[in-house]
Amino acid sequence: MAEDLAHILEVGQRTVPLRVTRNRRAKRMYLRYIPTEHGFSLTLPQRTRFDEGVAFVNAKSDWIANTLARMPEKKKLRFGVTLPILGQQVQILRDPELSKPFKLTATALHIRPDASKSSGEQIETVLKKIVRGELQALSEAKAAAIGRSINRVTLRDTRSRWGSCSTTRNLMFSWRLVFAPYEVLDYVASHEVAHLRHMNHSAVFWSRVEDICPDYRDWKDWLRDHGAELYRFVK
Ligand SMILES: [Zn+2]
Repeated sequence: MAEDLAHILEVGQRTVPLRVTRNRRAKRMYLRYIPTEHGFSLTLPQRTRFDEGVAFVNAKSDWIANTLARMPEKKKLRFGVTLPILGQQVQILRDPELSKPFKLTATALHIRPDASKSSGEQIETVLKKIVRGELQALSEAKAAAIGRSINRVTLRDTRSRWGSCSTTRNLMFSWRLVFAPYEVLDYVASHEVAHLRHMNHSAVFWSRVEDICPDYRDWKDWLRDHGAELYRFVK
């Protein structure tokens, strides 16, 4: 990757971020949607001229417009907004009187403000604590149910996967699962824990997942259909 230029793409009346990257190994140009930015990334092979890239993007204007219409717009993490948290619609509230850093009820997430951080950072930090606690508890319980134990649970902001399981029994999850229904966390934790027994996606693996998460097919489908929506929330 040589350069990563920020450009603006005009689509109808609106402007959309476009990142342009050169890649020596790329054989052809390609254009990709970036959910976290509600924008696009254009990759150019080393010797392709920039104006050829522009022509390539222009030729794809229908695909760009359709993709933007299909994908949800970004929503900023701010005090006052309502977010889907573990399947409930929850309003994020600033609460200076709170005796602990945060409190989650069925309808609100109260956060004690911290002047040293931006509101987006504060909210993201609290959401990560919440999802980490749920995933840790779920993973421990599911592992115990199949006679295994887990090592560490960590969070990342990965685009390619919702979770992973290492041979050293460390589990990794996307913190964005906090915006999914609780049953989706149950499925993803069950999936990764089942890898403690089977490091593959064989039929035996899936029957192990079913043992500890009987409705897993529904929640696997939910992630396939709604996964992109979990990327719409930004700091
Ligand atoms: Zn897997």
